[in-house]
Amino acid sequence: MLTQGTFRTVSKSGAITIPAKLRREYGIQSGDGYELFVEGKNIILKPYLPRCIFCGKQENVKNYKGKYVCQNCHDAISEALGKEPIAEQQRSVEK
Ligand SMILES: [Zn+2]
Repeated sequence: MLTQGTFRTVSKSGAITIPAKLRREYGIQSGDGYELFVEGKNIILKPYLPRCIFCGKQENVKNYKGKYVCQNCHDAISEALGKEPIAEQQRSVEK
């Protein structure tokens, strides 16, 4: 938690520079994705975590051709298409 406020102004394009000390401390690098959340009058910045395009979950999400799909939806789709879920395929290989 930030214990000391740091004054920053908003540029014409709407950008606000995050102080280098904070970027180092939180591992923020150029090109990293962040999401903005509004809570009352506060704007909260959180690291971007991709969501499954089907259910919106952020756990066990993999990128496939630029789209993010979670393991549960992947397995459900595979089953709907008549293919075994990945876990079943791995068990078959192990046999
Ligand atoms: Zn999903």
